Amino acid sequence: MSTTHEQTAWANLFAARAAGESDDGLASILALSTATDLISFSGGFPDPTTFPGPVLAEILADILAGGDASALQYAPTPGLPGFREFLAARLERLEGRRPEGDELLVTSGGIEALELLGKCFLEPGDAALVEAPTYLGGIMAFRSFEADVRGVPIDANGLVVDELERMLPTGLRPKLLYTIPDHQNPGGVTLAADRREPLVELARRHGFLIIEDVAYRELGFTTERHPSLWALGPDTVVQVGTFSKTFFPGVRLGWAVGPPDVIAGMVWAKQNTDQCAGALGQRLLEEYGKRGLMEEQNERSRVLYQRRCDLLMGALDEHVPDGVDWTRPRGGFFTWLTLPPQADTVQLAAKAMDAGVAFVPGAPFFPDARGRNNIRLAFSRVQDEEIPEGAARIGRLLRDELERLGT
Ligand code: PMP
Repeated sequence: MSTTHEQTAWANLFAARAAGESDDGLASILALSTATDLISFSGGFPDPTTFPGPVLAEILADILAGGDASALQYAPTPGLPGFREFLAARLERLEGRRPEGDELLVTSGGIEALELLGKCFLEPGDAALVEAPTYLGGIMAFRSFEADVRGVPIDANGLVVDELERMLPTGLRPKLLYTIPDHQNPGGVTLAADRREPLVELARRHGFLIIEDVAYRELGFTTERHPSLWALGPDTVVQVGTFSKTFFPGVRLGWAVGPPDVIAGMVWAKQNTDQCAGALGQRLLEEYGKRGLMEEQNERSRVLYQRRCDLLMGALDEHVPDGVDWTRPRGGFFTWLTLPPQADTVQLAAKAMDAGVAFVPGAPFFPDARGRNNIRLAFSRVQDEEIPEGAARIGRLLRDELERLGT
């Protein structure tokens, strides 16, 4: 078909919430997932060797042979009854609190839960607080509703609750605070036990909802396990969880537990996103979990990620020059490097690709202009034997950068 008019530049018609983002955020990290010619500390990917093996085929065959149509049918928006029971029992065991039926929603992964919360709560210009730095997907989810996303600092003990307390009387009236208390992405830090009650109290006093993202909570390397914020404050906390880092991300399955009116809002919001999380995944995980296999998988994953983390810590100790610090995670996938303030890790990330190593520069993890002197390294999917060489390459880049800065 021939046309005489000029092709419309569709991006000019985008809504304000979609326009103005200069890079493609998470998509560029996901795009690296298939690169084979470089040592990648880039995406927060689980290692495929942790994924369930042939047993999943067996479970699938059993479900299909048993004529269970629910696995292939639409599911109720809040989730399939059997899977909801599995989740409720699991939360009771892990968190010491069993959610009531109206406190629980099955989601299509963690990011969807953030999107649903944004859709329920945020008008353009509303204040949403996030940790600075935080998971890029959280910033993107809240920004897509044109929220005013502000950062609260973190330190080696997680969110600096005292600083949040100082910020609140300045006229800031946040509706939401998004936090990742356990083995944070990207910081690799955990919220100290003695900051948890005060944080929940602060939320109650100021009337904001805490969104507690527990994506890495089951992947701790030690016996240390602090009470979840949701267990401490089910009236003011919604816990968002995902099976992406534990079961496998292809299943796109997660949950939200929180106050009944919040969950009711999310159920409403979900009706015109995907209507329900995939039933097949819910049935698979329910049966897998009932056989005790989820906990076995977590145990194997914890051992693997701890080994990788130890290898990386040792290699960084050996190769990273003085003047650069990094966090020492007790779980999860990440460590977070801090260079001198004048450093430019965006440029460094581009040079790193030429040197055959990949990482994510710090800037996208902040809602403001900070982070140009930070780097996130994910140790979760890099092969053990590549870690020393990867760290050596990073060490050389860092030495060059410090030289360039004259430090
Ligand atoms: N929350 C955090 C803290 C994450 O790191 C991630 C994945 N990188 C997610 C949520 C997204 O999880 P999902 O794949 O379930 O959407």
